[in-house]
Amino acid sequence: MNILTIKKLKRIVIIGAGFAGLQVAKKLRRDKFQVVLIDKNNYHTFQPLLYQVATAGLEPDSIAHSIRNIVKKKKNFFFRLASVHYINTNKKEIITNIGNLSYDYLIVATGSVTNYFGNKNIESHALPMKSIPEALNLRSLILQNFEQAILTKDTQKKKKLMTFVIVGGGPTGVELAGALAEMKNYVLPHDYPNLDIQNMEIHLLQASTRLLDGMSEQSAKQAYKNLENLGVIIWLNCLVKDYNGDVVFIKENKKIQTENVIWTAGVKGAIIKGFLKEDIEGNRILVNQYLQTIRYKHIFAIGDVALMKINRYYPNGHPMTAQPAIQQGNYLANKFNINCFFDNNQAIKPFIYKNSGSMATIGRNKAVCDFSFFKLKGFLAWIIWMFVHLVSLVGFRNRVIALMNWIIQYFQYNKSVRLIIRPFHKKKKVI
Ligand SMILES: Cc1cc2nc3c(=O)[nH]c(=O)nc-3n(C[C@H](O)[C@H](O)[C@H](O)COP(=O)(O)OP(=O)(O)OC[C@H]3O[C@@H](n4cnc5c(N)ncnc54)[C@H](O)[C@@H]3O)c2cc1C
Repeated sequence: MNILTIKKLKRIVIIGAGFAGLQVAKKLRRDKFQVVLIDKNNYHTFQPLLYQVATAGLEPDSIAHSIRNIVKKKKNFFFRLASVHYINTNKKEIITNIGNLSYDYLIVATGSVTNYFGNKNIESHALPMKSIPEALNLRSLILQNFEQAILTKDTQKKKKLMTFVIVGGGPTGVELAGALAEMKNYVLPHDYPNLDIQNMEIHLLQASTRLLDGMSEQSAKQAYKNLENLGVIIWLNCLVKDYNGDVVFIKENKKIQTENVIWTAGVKGAIIKGFLKEDIEGNRILVNQYLQTIRYKHIFAIGDVALMKINRYYPNGHPMTAQPAIQQGNYLANKFNINCFFDNNQAIKPFIYKNSGSMATIGRNKAVCDFSFFKLKGFLAWIIWMFVHLVSLVGFRNRVIALMNWIIQYFQYNKSVRLIIRPFHKKKKVI
């Protein structure tokens, strides 16, 4: 079945309505092209704030936005809710769960998935945080475990329920550890007066020698200090070998007993079948300086899934973060709009990533920001962090709700969405 029969103009199909896909979709000229955007969800997810959903700070709908709402009333624009399974590069056609669709040009913007580095045990038992349903699982699990901890008389079981291990000391792990520590310090003692919340342990495990690998040494040290002050136990140089649902096994025979392992240790490109092995490296699609796949001139890849290795500042590809994705989306839309890829006489300028800096928050009043010419920490950095995240959220309603939540939490020392709406069911443990 063909999922779209109308076709008057050249058709550009975009797979993925994340930061990259949405940007290109919004900017492409629809008097010149028919634009078809496909996503397996009917909403865009603002992933940088997933950790706030997981720790009951924000409602899930305040970090999601309906794709149809974003693109409504745009002529020659079509959205299809579908999962793309295969790209038939010979027939210039994609195969989805609802039917097939031909394309003149294809833009793959499928983002990334959690990388467990091949460890099936960890994949079965640890909790990822890459989507809204996963963040909600985490929120439910945290609250369910405290409910269970009140009931159990078994002190070892109680400790395991109240011990949280976050694997991965990048911005996501750091922000999550900070938010959990704030729950421990300000929220949980009031919710569970019969539990000794001081027994709650938050461990942050990082494989390398420092936190926040992509940021400056100065910011990494500051984040370490802030997390330590909040009571987080930080393990550097710590490689997780396995997790069986009960015990985290760390190299050099160290162990942590816990029922809660949150995996933020890595992502890999979300590849769709149809590409040749040689066109993929490290689970990302190889592209040239124009974001064109190396074999197929009509297929482009942008965002986390794309790997451009020719830039001398980023020989291993751009960081898998929102800014490169947005800038690549913008670049491609501009180049399409001025006919770059069909007018052979046009000299095309290559894509150049402009790094606007990086930041991470470590709980209330604390953040670190690295910009090109200066670095910031503390309250001012935290205000900048909030401002940047607020303006980047898609949709006016979402910005207002997030801001209101943050103001209320700031003055009430509270996290308002401590709800187990959809209970999380743990998988059976390996014995
Ligand atoms: C917890 C977390 C925190 C983060 N924090 C930050 C941060 O603070 N700052 C920062 O810059 N970056 C952060 N990132 C990274 C940032 O979110 C990503 O780099 C960015 O989302 C990449 O954009 P993208 O468009 O390539 O992919 P995505 O935004 O992931 O979008 C991909 C889209 O493709 C769709 N899709 C995938 N496969 C298919 C398929 N087969 N069929 C149909 N649709 C499909 C998905 O549903 C999704 O909508 C964070 C990521 C996570 C997970």
